[in-house]
Amino acid sequence: MTDGPLVLLVEDNPRNLKLARDVLEFAGFTVAVAGSGEDGVALAASALPALILMDIQLPGIDGYAALEQIRGNRATANIPVVALTAFAMARDRDRVLSSGFDGYLEKPINVREFPTEVRRHLHEAEGQR
Ligand code: MN
Repeated sequence: MTDGPLVLLVEDNPRNLKLARDVLEFAGFTVAVAGSGEDGVALAASALPALILMDIQLPGIDGYAALEQIRGNRATANIPVVALTAFAMARDRDRVLSSGFDGYLEKPINVREFPTEVRRHLHEAEGQR
């Protein structure tokens, strides 16, 4: 339906996943989804999205470990990865930024601002290349 930039959403909570996907698709993004870190890493390598939105707490490997694997693969090393963090977890935020994520977005997502924030991260990433 849409042919906007491909965003890979890695999120294990079905409600969060559906909401974020619906909002992004409505805003014109193409969205691929994974429900675990392992699937996210594999899908990143096969689909080569423009941006990855990565939940931190996931079944199996967590968002940090998934990021490491994405960075460790030459094919996906330069894809911007933005963490999805639970609101008000300041400690997590510090760790997220020091772990090499390109940024973070808070959950629950703000439905109005989410597409703009995702676009901003995409543009920031483009400007760095
Ligand atoms: Mn989770």
